[in-house]
Amino acid sequence: MRIEEDIKLGFKDVLIRPKRSTLKSRSQVELTRQFTFKHSAVAWSGIPIIAANMDTVGTFSMAEALASFDVLTAVHKHYSVEQWQQFISRVPDSVLKHVMVSTGTSDADFIKMQQILALSPLLNFICIDVANGYSEHFVEFLHRAREACPGKTICAGNVVTGEMVEELILSGADIVKVGIGPGSVCTTRVKTGVGYPQLSAVIECADAAHGLGGQIVSDGGCSVPGDVAKAFGGGADFVMLGGMLAAHEECEGTLVEEDGEQFMLFYGMSSESAMKRHVGGVAGYRAAEGKTVKLPLRGPVEHTARDILGGLRSACTYVGAERLKELTKRTTFIRVAEQENRVFNR
Ligand code: 5GP
Repeated sequence: MRIEEDIKLGFKDVLIRPKRSTLKSRSQVELTRQFTFKHSAVAWSGIPIIAANMDTVGTFSMAEALASFDVLTAVHKHYSVEQWQQFISRVPDSVLKHVMVSTGTSDADFIKMQQILALSPLLNFICIDVANGYSEHFVEFLHRAREACPGKTICAGNVVTGEMVEELILSGADIVKVGIGPGSVCTTRVKTGVGYPQLSAVIECADAAHGLGGQIVSDGGCSVPGDVAKAFGGGADFVMLGGMLAAHEECEGTLVEEDGEQFMLFYGMSSESAMKRHVGGVAGYRAAEGKTVKLPLRGPVEHTARDILGGLRSACTYVGAERLKELTKRTTFIRVAEQENRVFNR
């Protein structure tokens, strides 16, 4: 047994220190980023925020709504090939440019992924998602996907440490998904005791990825727009959001009514709810590592998207970053003992 003594930080442990700035208005801030990915060599530009591939957030409707903001959606893996076909024939090319095709790591997943990708050359992104990105089986799947799809941009995870980020990039990932345990409906830390504070994971993993010419996405743990700014400030190239985008009209989640008020169910992808819905229940050898929550409806996602992008632009003006790309360079984190005044939150 070994103990690492240096403190690891989450978003709640820091604030971003303001800096002198020549920017007159947040409208001057450019959130669009350009990337040319390491393996696929594809050039992409857009706002590097991604709706999570959870089945009530990574929906086709979410992809349509967020594409108009130049934001990505990792569409969940439970749509059938026929549903993809209908979606692709219905939406303009600009939407498909903002879509990631999610997949698990079984042989059936591999075949389905290829069938979906074959439907349109505009589907550029693959998101290979497993709860534990440290498994050999996952790395083998990544090699296989890279070989089969040399021109596609592959996002793969999740991991939280630099050496595994390097292994995934060397195995064919363009973008590594970082985050174990920080999610809003994730119970991995409680069920297993395993995890890594998200901001430190981002800082360390970004360093490892950038050293090899790869990118990372900070996945999970953002609960307010300020957290998104902190993730980018810490070095994330992309930020993935689940809970912050949940319960909107685009979410296709189950509605429940209580005392005349409507709520939408939101659950982790390894929760009992998800396993019941997709595989008929929780297998005997495993525990659910996600929870189900009931959220008040939040209307169209448009308002939330504006709120997040507005917060991010404002964060950039506070530190004098004219472009999102400069935010990391201009970020100094200060460790804090309190985040905000909560007198009216109780
Ligand atoms: P959020 O933005 O809600 O904080 O985090 C979203 C992320 O939580 C997802 O992208 C995914 O990585 C993670 N996640 C989703 N469902 C589950 C789950 O059931 N268990 C765990 N451990 N993580 C989950």
